[in-house]
Amino acid sequence: MARINDNYLKLKAGYLFPEIARRVNTFAQENPNANIIRLGIGDVTEPLPQACQDAMVKAIADMGDRNTFKGYGPEQGYNWLREKIAQHDFQSRGCDISADEIFISDGSKCDTGNILDIFGKNNKIAVTDPVYPVYVDTNVMAGHTGDANEKGEYEGLVYLPISAENDFIAQIPTQAVDLIYLCFPNNPTGAIATKEYLQSWVEYAKKHEAIILFDAAYEAFITDPSLPHSIYEIEGAKDCAIEFRSFSKNAGFTGTRCALTVVPKNLTGKASDGSEVELWKLWNRRQSTKFNGVSYIVQRGAEAVYSEEGQAQIAQLVKFYLENANIIREELTKAGLTVYGGVNAPYVWVKTPDGLSSWDFFDKLLHNVNVVGTPGSGFGAAGEGYFRLSAFNSRENVLEAMKRITTTMKFSS
Ligand code: PLP
Repeated sequence: MARINDNYLKLKAGYLFPEIARRVNTFAQENPNANIIRLGIGDVTEPLPQACQDAMVKAIADMGDRNTFKGYGPEQGYNWLREKIAQHDFQSRGCDISADEIFISDGSKCDTGNILDIFGKNNKIAVTDPVYPVYVDTNVMAGHTGDANEKGEYEGLVYLPISAENDFIAQIPTQAVDLIYLCFPNNPTGAIATKEYLQSWVEYAKKHEAIILFDAAYEAFITDPSLPHSIYEIEGAKDCAIEFRSFSKNAGFTGTRCALTVVPKNLTGKASDGSEVELWKLWNRRQSTKFNGVSYIVQRGAEAVYSEEGQAQIAQLVKFYLENANIIREELTKAGLTVYGGVNAPYVWVKTPDGLSSWDFFDKLLHNVNVVGTPGSGFGAAGEGYFRLSAFNSRENVLEAMKRITTTMKFSS
């Protein structure tokens, strides 16, 4: 009989979103007239920017014409898109990143998981707690951890707790690690990183010859001009960091799928014979072997993000979601809750009131006001006692959810 990858058996059975779905479905069946508002999952709600739609329609016409038809594209992405990204997202901010260091993909979720293909088995890996669950689960699947304890912490991972006590900013570890996942603006806490803070991570990484895996999926939500959008705005980061970016949240591509990973050319890791090997070469080899590129149509849609109209339209989208975040922050504060994040980020991180656990608060909101959020404990043990609300929703739903909470619930946090 075929053997399975036993590491999958270590994964905690009740993954966060299926458990949320189970509880919501049970409630909906028992209360068929309830109008449930979902402010839980971080999926966007607003339609694609017109510039992206137009570019994709034109690209479909290209595909329908023998003279402009495209078959397989470059596995790394079309150069016209990589050039625009290099210019607009990096060089314009003073980051020395060139088009050939940018790999186009169908998602940051896949890339943050797949990147483990190019790293060895014996790395010490650090994640924040709470954290975007994909970083942890993909390490479990790859056999980089032992079993989980009753709190859901996997043996072998280094957890860096973040909470109100440290302003949701992980302390730089005193021990050496080899790989560090950082995500700013942060999912789930909505915390942001200053240049000084990222500088201290870069110094740490260089000292320990570690690699920072920097997830900037939410960089478009940064409005404070003093905050860095890219890790490469930090001096020395090109020697120690890989960055992940996505069109999912800035341009509404969650269902369209396009993202990118930056692997600088001079970045190296160590082979078991002690020699230094360029990570770019390994990632290029990995992508060329296991990936056949993002569709031409989708890449044309992503390219339109960088047109004048595209830039104006994505700025409107981001503004819209940030206004939602602001409404959530203000209304929940009025209701007596303590809230964090939601300023340069689309997530509001709420301290659960009255000593309730994350899941108890989930149930209370679902049952009392039919509003669904995400229990903080689902993002890691240190997320217990917190709750995530997402700004990705229609204005109508956000206003209605907040009205229900403020008019019917009173909290003491
Ligand atoms: N990284 C973070 C931190 C996320 O929160 C998400 C999605 O919610 C992703 C990556 C996934 O991005 P993509 O849609 O490009 O796969």
